[in-house]
Amino acid sequence: MFGYGRNNFTWNGTLRELEGSYPAFCTERGQSNMIASPSSSGGIEVLLSTLQNSGDVESTLNTLNVLDELLSAGTDRRIHYMISKGGSEALLTALVNNARTFSPNYNILLPLLHLLAKVGHRDRRIGMKAEEAGAVLVTLNLLKHNIRHARRVAACLWVIQVFSSSVSTANLIGENYGLDVIYHLIPQYTTKNLHTIKAAINAFAALLYTKANVWSIVSKGYISGLLKLYEDWHSKDTHHVAIAIRHALLCCLHNATQTTGGRQALISQGGIQLLYQTTQTCLLSKSLECLVESTVQLMRKCLPKTPLPLTSDKSAYTFPLPGRPHAVPDVDVTPDESSVGSDAEEDEDNQEANSTDYDDDLETDLNKLCLRPDLDRPKELLQQYSHLCPELSHDFQELVMSSESEESSTTSSSDDEAVMHNTFLPSSHRRDRMSTARSDSSTSSNGSHTETEISIKGHLAAAAQLEAHDFHSHSSILSTSPGCTTMIREATGETPPGQRREEQDGDEEGAEEGYHRTTIDRLLERHGACIPHHVPKLYRAAAAKTKSIPGFGILAFPDFWGHLPPPGHEPMAPRKPNTQRQKVFEDVQRFLNTDDIINLLVFDLENSSVQCRSDSLRFFSKFECGNLRKAIQVRRCEYDLILNADVNCSQHTQWFYFEVSNMVAGIPYRFNVINCEKSNSQFNYGMQPVLYSVREALDGRPRWVRTGTEICYYRNYFCPAQGRRKTTFYTLSFTITFKHNEDVCYLAYHYPYTYSALKAHLKVLQKSVDPAKVFFQQQILCGTLAGNSCPLVTITACPASKGWKDLHQLRNRPCIVLTSRVHPGESNASWVMKGTLEFLCSSDLVAQSLREAFVFKIIPMLNPDGVINGTNRCDVNSEDLNRQWCKPDPVLSPTIYHTKGFLYYLNSIGRTPLVFCDYHGHSRKKNVFLYGCSIKETLWQSGSAIDTVGLKEDPGYRTIPKTLDRIAPAFSFNSCNYLVEKSRSATARVVVWREMGVLRSYTMESTYNGCDQGIYKGLQIGTRELQEMGVKFCHSLLSVTKDTKLLYSRRLINHIDLDHNILDHKSHNCFEDDEPPCVEEIEYFTDFPTVKYTDLDSDVNSNMASPDEEEEINEGHSPAKCQQDCINDSIMKGNLFPPHIRQASIDGLSEKRNTCNGVSIANGQITS
Ligand SMILES: [Zn+2]
Repeated sequence: MFGYGRNNFTWNGTLRELEGSYPAFCTERGQSNMIASPSSSGGIEVLLSTLQNSGDVESTLNTLNVLDELLSAGTDRRIHYMISKGGSEALLTALVNNARTFSPNYNILLPLLHLLAKVGHRDRRIGMKAEEAGAVLVTLNLLKHNIRHARRVAACLWVIQVFSSSVSTANLIGENYGLDVIYHLIPQYTTKNLHTIKAAINAFAALLYTKANVWSIVSKGYISGLLKLYEDWHSKDTHHVAIAIRHALLCCLHNATQTTGGRQALISQGGIQLLYQTTQTCLLSKSLECLVESTVQLMRKCLPKTPLPLTSDKSAYTFPLPGRPHAVPDVDVTPDESSVGSDAEEDEDNQEANSTDYDDDLETDLNKLCLRPDLDRPKELLQQYSHLCPELSHDFQELVMSSESEESSTTSSSDDEAVMHNTFLPSSHRRDRMSTARSDSSTSSNGSHTETEISIKGHLAAAAQLEAHDFHSHSSILSTSPGCTTMIREATGETPPGQRREEQDGDEEGAEEGYHRTTIDRLLERHGACIPHHVPKLYRAAAAKTKSIPGFGILAFPDFWGHLPPPGHEPMAPRKPNTQRQKVFEDVQRFLNTDDIINLLVFDLENSSVQCRSDSLRFFSKFECGNLRKAIQVRRCEYDLILNADVNCSQHTQWFYFEVSNMVAGIPYRFNVINCEKSNSQFNYGMQPVLYSVREALDGRPRWVRTGTEICYYRNYFCPAQGRRKTTFYTLSFTITFKHNEDVCYLAYHYPYTYSALKAHLKVLQKSVDPAKVFFQQQILCGTLAGNSCPLVTITACPASKGWKDLHQLRNRPCIVLTSRVHPGESNASWVMKGTLEFLCSSDLVAQSLREAFVFKIIPMLNPDGVINGTNRCDVNSEDLNRQWCKPDPVLSPTIYHTKGFLYYLNSIGRTPLVFCDYHGHSRKKNVFLYGCSIKETLWQSGSAIDTVGLKEDPGYRTIPKTLDRIAPAFSFNSCNYLVEKSRSATARVVVWREMGVLRSYTMESTYNGCDQGIYKGLQIGTRELQEMGVKFCHSLLSVTKDTKLLYSRRLINHIDLDHNILDHKSHNCFEDDEPPCVEEIEYFTDFPTVKYTDLDSDVNSNMASPDEEEEINEGHSPAKCQQDCINDSIMKGNLFPPHIRQASIDGLSEKRNTCNGVSIANGQITS
């Protein structure tokens, strides 16, 4: 098993094998001084016991040798085993015992320190243990008294470094001048004793993990010294042999700048400049990569915090909430609270990055999982929803006279607003809403001054003007740049308005309007593309009724004109190496070289009079879904963009959508969105923003295209304008080279989909269906806070006849309830919904079959006000509506309150939905996937002790995701999960599952980026693919039909199955890992790579391997002689200690805290 000779000892077995054998081995060696332990002890205990108690040099050395051989031969498990057996304590005791003697024996101490460094490095409690053993100051003292012995110094430093893993130990060392001693051991550039110097710097860095120590070195001016040292080593280490030392110095600076004081000291000492310059010279050498990365991180961290150039962090849009004083919306209450919450909760979309991370969030209370809570409202209130099931009472007259059907459904959808307001709103608000509804149709507001009306009056005025302005809108959109106006005129062959005006009668505005109308109509005639399900004039009409907080009078061209998906697929953008680094350098240059910085405000949402230079880009965002608050020209071709916070609050910035014009073709413009809030983004993983060019649209290519290069997303140095909140901001940077001069372009986070687009789309759909076959009815679920309506659509098949049997079949069709766009920034959800709606209204066989099988109840936009006003997350009440489902407020969250009420109603009449699905977008994952609810999976995943064997659970919740995995190219089954988290208990999916008992209750998450599996692998997702997903979701519903008599279903499923083009491209057993870490750090507060076990081990080993030719000098010499020798030595041999280090200066650093567990140290003498 093992052989032990005089000079060598090898061990190939395990420590456990050694246990029990050791006593025999003792006997064999005949070491009388080894103290035999009780027979129950294993060999390791005996070794350790010997080490602590032996006073004999030889046996101690032997034991140390044995231990070292043992530990270095195996893996870390041996060391951890030894630690578990009290190894650290034994070594510490031995250290204290041996160092206490009047003349310490370094033949013992050196290997002891080495072993302690190796073992301690793996013992998380080593600092505390060292303090308890009184070994901390002993080691520091050994260091002080051996500063001329490079090997001893190194050994002590490693041990100090290891001890410093505990805050209190590091502080103890700091308080006893350990920082000063070690700092003075770091010399200017030299080629000697590099590993000792490295040990000193590493120990110094380790001590700086505590704030007290950082404060101490800042107050002593050591930051400046560290910078000088770094500069010296950088400039003289021309052959790059001391990279480790240079890196270690950076590590010191990194730790020292963890406090504000440290960062300020670094800046005031010209640190940023120095780091920037030194880095530029390192860029070409690959071996210096680690230095570049470290300096870039340091610079990012130390750039002075710059408040956003805003007068207030609060949204530019405020909305007076009912029941609250409207002059000052009560927003102060929420932002701070919710900012705390949002850090913890982040985002529903960002759930489960790693399933083990949030296990403690899983619901393990079986009662909560299984029990159905009581109604959240009186039962009587449910009856008001009965009319939302028109298919149940419809008489289907159109089966006789089909022409009437259109009539009737149109009437019901246009008149229902007033009716609905009257029926649905709580009585206190009914009057206000009624007046809203009335003024809506009359275009002028009457004199009643109720609370809500005042708030809405502005919007009404805007709505009234919109007819006039909506052309203006285009005119102002198209004429934002003179060149573009010319472009339009050329395109239409129009003469300017002035010349036409004389031909027109009436007032100027009318003339203007008429002219604009004609222009636009002609433009559409000549250049409009045939876009399915999009009619620009319907859009304009819908937009005129849309009520926005700022009173939008302008339409964004893409929404009005429509768009077609690009002909081919768009691959994810390759990320060039060091993109972010380059961006950071440019950011740093803003501080270092202010000459080329323009810093000119070119757009301000709140101030339209902002003048910009003729060569600046022009921005605009005051239109539906628009979001851009400010644009600042930083350099000639670089702009900082600031997004508007969600209405009535000061956060949730992420979504953007704005117009940009006055560009020069072929020039790269850099855009930085500087106040993003999410901590990471798919923009780091191949995603691009989308761009729409008016010029291209007029040339017959009306497309949103993915665009932008040098895209990256990283933490920046900005802070909120008012600074109270602890918000971290991220920069999304991208560069765009426009194709045309003087174009008008639109840039967005994702393909925009406005509320007006939905309204127009529903009109088109309604007109498109054959009323004799398709029962399509649009109703209004309720009004929103800002006075818009929330549509509810019913789609099913008309009965084959008016016969009893057919009507009975109709009335017994299961319900499918689909909702979408509760989060306004998730426009992808709307595109998926668009696909679903179009498919369900189509003449496709599957659609026909689905209509015959089910009644679809669809609420395509749960948050109209948020969508309209360009918010990212919330409704205008500054609440995340998908956290309101437990007890939604009827006044503040009407859409959720009534959706839930409607579901309760379905429940109460025995028509509980068979499937519920809420469509969302997911900003940090790829693919499309479902979240569902399963008791068993939740309990299993949480490791709950509850016995799930007896628990019966219908596994049917998996059917749809399984089917989708087979038929939907973008869908990934492996990304789905069915866990019920406490933090999601108020979301639609969980509440509908728990309270309505819907087994198949889902959240469908669609990526903003693209797929990493299937046939779309490596491609970004477009509206075509998103709509296709909406279609495939419908297809998957065939898998849950129970009606076996249903003619088509089986055949159709087979039909789908046989479609091999979309099948078999799936890898069913590939478990998608979470996104791999971004090559460049998004955060700059990530720790520098700490010293690895192996690094420290190899340093220690090299110290041991070198022959023990002690450079001991001057033992017993006078201090004066010693100093002289020291200086001579350094001059002669380039020794470790440069002249400025004097023993005296170190001796003078006597301990501040003299006692430690009874051990007192004074002037090198240890007494107890
Ligand atoms: Zn969402």
